[in-house]
Amino acid sequence: MRKKILITGGAGFLGSHLCSRFLKEDFHVIAMDNLITGSLKNIEEFFKLENFEFHHHDVSKYVHVPGEIDYILHFASPASPIDYLKIPIQTLKVGSLGTHNLLGLARVKKARILIASTSEVYGDPTVHPQPESYWGNVNPIGPRSVYDEAKRFQEAITMAYHTFHGVETRIVRIFNTYGPKMRLNDGRVLPAFVGQVLKGMDLTVYGDGSQTRSFCYVDDLVEGIYRLLFSDYALPVNIGNPQEITIKEFADEIISLTGTSQKVSYVDLPIDDPKQRKPDITKARELLGWEPKVNRSEGLKITLDYFKSIPIEEWNITPKEFKSN
Ligand code: UDP
Repeated sequence: MRKKILITGGAGFLGSHLCSRFLKEDFHVIAMDNLITGSLKNIEEFFKLENFEFHHHDVSKYVHVPGEIDYILHFASPASPIDYLKIPIQTLKVGSLGTHNLLGLARVKKARILIASTSEVYGDPTVHPQPESYWGNVNPIGPRSVYDEAKRFQEAITMAYHTFHGVETRIVRIFNTYGPKMRLNDGRVLPAFVGQVLKGMDLTVYGDGSQTRSFCYVDDLVEGIYRLLFSDYALPVNIGNPQEITIKEFADEIISLTGTSQKVSYVDLPIDDPKQRKPDITKARELLGWEPKVNRSEGLKITLDYFKSIPIEEWNITPKEFKSN
């Protein structure tokens, strides 16, 4: 009998890559998504498979899945700053009510559940690089708080279900990740820069571009999540690539990779934009024997080819139902 896995946010960037991985491992995959920021395009190739099904549903409302479930991956949430600023209430709800619903489902189905947390729980970090033991520096009422605090609450309720109800839980703290199937207009730095290159515009660097990020290729992230799910470790684990770069250097890298003559233009830095971010991955190395394998130039080349394959009209398609309720 095939093992059954429910993947929420299954039509999103990370969710669709996870569907692909678990289908390859011969699981029965149930993808669930309300398609607000996810897209059926990301998963259309799976519909012909007998071990794939799709449920169009908002997990902030009661979640019903008939039959047994062995594993749950909770990846439903807007995840780019532009998205969660547009739909702040839905972002808070999916991280809190949605997580509560899925923990309840895991409990009745006796399923193991892995929750997608984020480096945003560290806020604008004062410890660098960030180990899991760092409690973070989050503004609880700033614009990013709808995401950061939802994810912090998500970790708290997940630990409570683990200690109080004995649910088998896993928590991954995901650092900046990129790759094919990122939404083209989600506002994140990589699609923003590539979109600008393709449209002949200047690359918008926020602030003076001295803020840092560390970008992980999606296949590496998926491998880390896969290993964490099958580990016996219930505390949070960072998964990300520790290769750190300033955003100005990143813009220059995109300019040189695409061979464009376009320039950088500087615009205001958004409120509470973290000044530095780099994962300490000691735990993932020791517990999971995991570390990233794909370097940035390799990963960016694959991602650029994907972006170039999308007709320019499709770059402007905005998700439906962008209303906050
Ligand atoms: N950024 C930028 N120009 C853009 C979009 C983003 O300079 O057009 C910067 C942003 O201010 C941040 C970094 O790139 O410092 C990464 O932003 P992103 O939205 O990808 O994710 P974050 O790591 O902030 O969640």
